[in-house]
Amino acid sequence: MEERIRHILDRLGKEPPQVLLFEGGTADERQEAAFYWAKRLNCGSGERACGGCSACGQIEARVFRDLFVFNGREGNIKVEEVREAIPVFSQAPAVGRKRAVLFLEGQMFTEATANTLLKSLEEPNPATCFVLTAPQRERLLPTLVSRSWVMTLAWPAAGDGDGGEWVAALREFATTGKGWFTKTAGRGAVDKAGALAAVLACQADLARAMRGEAGEGLACDLERTLGAEGLRKLDLALGHAQDALTLPTPVNPALVLDWLATRVRSWVA
Ligand SMILES: [Zn+2]
Repeated sequence: MEERIRHILDRLGKEPPQVLLFEGGTADERQEAAFYWAKRLNCGSGERACGGCSACGQIEARVFRDLFVFNGREGNIKVEEVREAIPVFSQAPAVGRKRAVLFLEGQMFTEATANTLLKSLEEPNPATCFVLTAPQRERLLPTLVSRSWVMTLAWPAAGDGDGGEWVAALREFATTGKGWFTKTAGRGAVDKAGALAAVLACQADLARAMRGEAGEGLACDLERTLGAEGLRKLDLALGHAQDALTLPTPVNPALVLDWLATRVRSWVA
């Protein structure tokens, strides 16, 4: 985990916010940050997550009684599961200093689950701390985000190396309809990590366009032709592509990129 994030979490642990949201990074990095935070809240050292005390060990093993994990990556979260747990969230922690309730990859929750989650935030025990993770905050209900302290992890492959090359190729394909399939065709042309780097680079490009920083790029092209709707569409498509590439189920990375390119092309062609 980034030193910068660790430092902030260690400091924040003195007065923990009720809801902490991690965006950016990869799904694994967001999960790591969420678990670090759960340990920080309960670690015997009281200053950081030492990793060696019994609270840290039990959280790592996921057997800590005040740890609740709802993981959107592990299939459908049942709305009943969240509903059943809500009364517990308003009670004092059983053994720890804080109860840590982790909602990982909230963009994969159904609408019903997201709404129930929102209800669970309404009257929690002050010692219950919630954690949300998502690729970008825009992919969660705005009412969830407005209640959260947002921390942005570094975008891993933002615009460097191959990532930037893929952005350029996607941009060319969107405008001309050419060049893309020769890049993804052929056995092993792109592996999972390469495809993820391409998607993350596009997300970084989108983030820059949303902040009004970049004048040149795929997202800016889409904004010029389609307005804000173009950015929203790109955000959703990149999100789906990233989910497909980070799920434990096997996918063909070239097909994911082809799907993405075809989508983008269909909006402008
Ligand atoms: Zn510890």
